[in-house]
Amino acid sequence: MHEASQNDQVRHEVTLNERGPFVAPRCSCGWYGPARRSRPLARDEAAAHTATARSA
Ligand SMILES: [Zn+2]
Repeated sequence: MHEASQNDQVRHEVTLNERGPFVAPRCSCGWYGPARRSRPLARDEAAAHTATARSA
């Protein structure tokens, strides 16, 4: 039995949704980023989100 007292149990698993030439990052926490034409850029923004969300 685990105690759920902290909110850091929220997981941030990012997936990239490809739509034609665009790639939009989406996180399991409900966050999603704007569609980008650049996959590295989309991953960058997703990484920035997870870094911010984890340290908040
Ligand atoms: Zn997230």
